[in-house]
Amino acid sequence: MKISVIGIGYVGLVTATCFAELGNTVTCVDINKKRIEDLKKGIIPIYEPGLSELVKKNIEQKRIVFTTSTKAAVENSKIIFIAVGTPSDKDGQADLKYVKQVAQEISLHIADYRIIVNKSTVPVGTGDIVSRIIQKKYKGKFSVVSNPEFLREGSAVYDSMNPDRVVIGNGDVKARKIMEELYRPFKAPIVFTDVKSAELIKYASNSMLATQISFINSMANICEKVGADVDFVAEGMKLDKRIGKHSFLSAGGGYGGSCFPKDVKALIKASDKYGYNFSILKAVESVNETQKRNVVSKTKKFIGPIKGKKIGIWGLAFKPQTDDMREAISIVVINKLLQEGAKVKAFDPVAMDEAQHIFKEKITYCKDVWDAVKDVDVLIILTEWPEFKEIDLFKLKKIMDKPYIMDARNIFSLDKMEEKGFHYLSIGR
Ligand code: NAD
Repeated sequence: MKISVIGIGYVGLVTATCFAELGNTVTCVDINKKRIEDLKKGIIPIYEPGLSELVKKNIEQKRIVFTTSTKAAVENSKIIFIAVGTPSDKDGQADLKYVKQVAQEISLHIADYRIIVNKSTVPVGTGDIVSRIIQKKYKGKFSVVSNPEFLREGSAVYDSMNPDRVVIGNGDVKARKIMEELYRPFKAPIVFTDVKSAELIKYASNSMLATQISFINSMANICEKVGADVDFVAEGMKLDKRIGKHSFLSAGGGYGGSCFPKDVKALIKASDKYGYNFSILKAVESVNETQKRNVVSKTKKFIGPIKGKKIGIWGLAFKPQTDDMREAISIVVINKLLQEGAKVKAFDPVAMDEAQHIFKEKITYCKDVWDAVKDVDVLIILTEWPEFKEIDLFKLKKIMDKPYIMDARNIFSLDKMEEKGFHYLSIGR
């Protein structure tokens, strides 16, 4: 099929590439000229395992092209995906300005039946907004479908190629048939719904996952008070099939990233707007905020006042296998440490460039894991990168003058750390 994707960020680029890989011809559009020029040369703007190879392959096989022209995309494709960002506005609502801009652009160039697919995470009712914008300029037939994306950064290519489910929101038979045909090769269950339910499925899913994280973090706090171990508690819970072995029950320093914080906020705000107080989600958010700050207060109890302390950080990205630092807990933790007078040096396997945009000259950027632990009073672990988990603990102990580790991701076993002679503090254990 001939399709186009507008907004070539994490979701847009991965989605476009996976559709191309399955034999579709994909036009990728972004307003960021540099990004498009780089992509034409095969330079990938984000870190995502396996993505670079797949983009280059599909460029060579002429199944994927990059442009800044929405006109070309609308004219040349039957299905137009909108995958632009929907960040929080100053009140915490999803800011729809990019989605509206794209709808406006489409309305100027559409001249025949098209399916316009909202892949961006958008609040309930956005499908109607997009329809209205297009109808202002175009009187012919078109369909607006809600098709939320569930990929996880860090395994985005795998997730896109192997989705747990595909949600197609629109009652229109013609649009459903075409979308079903497009998604058939993915061999995933398809949930057909109306537009509004599809829009809500995305928020409901992310909010449920965030709820699980705040729940297990609250359990971790109780575990610390009573002397239990939250990892055992989670293990015991997950074996209940109603809870499930893949549930998001890993205690730590709280959730971050480009989706959970903004989606939880947006659902709270949307509910308020419709006159419903979504109190569970308000608690989820508040527990998460406290949990991030707890990393610093726990460190303080562990090593004494922060002022003047030299602190090493492992992990800046909001999770492993990505360079994305949007709402990463590292930002909150490092800023608080700096505020309290610490000297911070940090290492992340892929997010160092991103971190320099955020912290500028305020911290020292290390060349590797070892550099980040030399001459520090404590090491704080903020991202559970595999290379940290597999570190040579014997060498680590030798290099660290003061073997104090505050692990906000629970990556090491308590027994092992005790045996190796570390002073080791983690979450809820
Ligand atoms: P992103 O910020 O990485 O990318 C957005 C892209 O859209 C940018 O390249 C930007 O230049 C482009 N853009 C903005 N306005 C444009 C316009 N008028 N025309 C063309 N391009 C334009 O965002 P993302 O992380 O890919 O997220 C996109 C959407 O997908 C969001 O709604 C997000 O909530 C949702 N989502 C994200 C993830 C994730 O893991 N990142 C997962 C599922 C869903």
